[in-house]
Amino acid sequence: IPVDPFDLVVFGGTGDLARRKILPALFRRFCAGQMPETARIIGAARSDMSDASYTQMVADALREFSPGAQSHADRLRDFLGVISYVRIDAMGEAGWAELTQKITSVDRVEAYYFSVAPSLFGPLAERLQGHGLADRNARIVVEKPFGRDLETAKALNATLARYFDETQIYRIDHYLGKETVQNLMAVRFGNMLFEPLWNSQFVDHIQITVAETVGVGGRGEYYDRAGAMRDMVQNHLMQLLCLIAMEPPARFDPDAVRDEKLKVIRALEPVEPHHIVRGQYNADPDDADTYPDYRTAVGNPRSRTESFVALKTHIANWRWAGTPFYLRTGKRMRERSSEISIVFKETPHSIFAEDAGRHRNVLSIKLQPNEGITLGVTIKEPGPGGMRLIDVPLDMTFAEALGPDGGETVDAYERLIMDVIRGNQTLFMRGDEVEAAWDWTDPIIQGWTDRGDVPKPYDSLSDGPDASAQLLVRDKREWRKI
Ligand code: NAD
Repeated sequence: IPVDPFDLVVFGGTGDLARRKILPALFRRFCAGQMPETARIIGAARSDMSDASYTQMVADALREFSPGAQSHADRLRDFLGVISYVRIDAMGEAGWAELTQKITSVDRVEAYYFSVAPSLFGPLAERLQGHGLADRNARIVVEKPFGRDLETAKALNATLARYFDETQIYRIDHYLGKETVQNLMAVRFGNMLFEPLWNSQFVDHIQITVAETVGVGGRGEYYDRAGAMRDMVQNHLMQLLCLIAMEPPARFDPDAVRDEKLKVIRALEPVEPHHIVRGQYNADPDDADTYPDYRTAVGNPRSRTESFVALKTHIANWRWAGTPFYLRTGKRMRERSSEISIVFKETPHSIFAEDAGRHRNVLSIKLQPNEGITLGVTIKEPGPGGMRLIDVPLDMTFAEALGPDGGETVDAYERLIMDVIRGNQTLFMRGDEVEAAWDWTDPIIQGWTDRGDVPKPYDSLSDGPDASAQLLVRDKREWRKI
């Protein structure tokens, strides 16, 4: 279903994120017929460029980051036809008159994507309002990082609130745009099977892993000021945890869902220092020039910033009292893999012989590389070998279930940008959620500083420091294989 016609201004339209994600996502929605031909995309950035040279840059980006763009030559030409460019200064007046002229908001949705450094969010919001571009039709999309602690997040929320209503602010967390994350809600709340078991009585523990094989790459300077806790846990892992742990909302609408998520964050217990492990990756022993150790990669030989974190936390409410939530994320790990696992308890008593084998049901929700949901079920090993039990996956991977066409997964950015145009905030973080998440994260980070904590080294392409494995071994559990 096509969305309404819109004007979308991409501030930072020449940047890495715009070229890799935002513009390819728009192109794919254009090819799918969801983005109307009358919509317009205006790139706005600091470089001095003509419409033609910007359009050329977009075409190059699509060829590089949107496989198949070439085979849609007609569509590519039409898409490039809706693109224009304004040279603009977020900190000054240059370009704003030209931008204002380009926006013809009669009966159109206006969206402003802030794909720029967070220090420019406030100045952009202020100038949008100053030039009459912040009316009711307008909405802004704000990228991460949203602050670096509670204080800065509050200040940023307060600044944006001066110019825009909360209903106009879309704080993006692309993890929430993944098909499987939404499917998680469908599985939980669309089936009778799971919800009665979804509590501490039947669930032994929950694991959330977001592992990357890449290092900090070209983002060393930013990353060394952030670290895994700020860059990944405070936003992506917390959001996933909320969707797993929240109570059923009364309706699937933005505030009902976000109210429930907020309650989870507020019920998170503080993390004990011995329930958290930090790490920094070592160089690749075979190719240290290409894959240096963390400190070399960020150019800070004394850095105490973590590229890996694993922790155990609890949610202090009736549903989850006593159920541990184990979270881990890191760079330069064994595989690229994001997975949530709900590990159920063993049956209370086994009627089978001791050597028959015994397995726990695990519902695992895979976010990357291949999205899908599987449920491990115990069955009898087929054949005449007697009653031997094996664990087999009930596979709900959509690519197979939906066939080759229906299985084409829509990139998270495609869905989220279309949601912005449709005015649906369900998959975007509300200001109070972000603040509550920082409120939980800040004391952890402050504790490291106060104690002079030094991250433990871990081997490149491994599972992280040994202490991470020990965190679960101490509880007679183990991490799922990455
Ligand atoms: P980038 O450095 O590649 O691009 C920055 C853009 O901002 C450029 O287009 C530049 O012209 C523009 N710009 C800079 N100063 C300006 C000014 N005064 N006025 C107008 N425009 C100005 O950055 P990026 O990697 O594309 O990241 C953009 C935002 O998205 C950042 O907030 C970043 O944290 C966030 N983000 C990026 C990624 C990613 O993968 N690149 C992922 C998640 C979030």
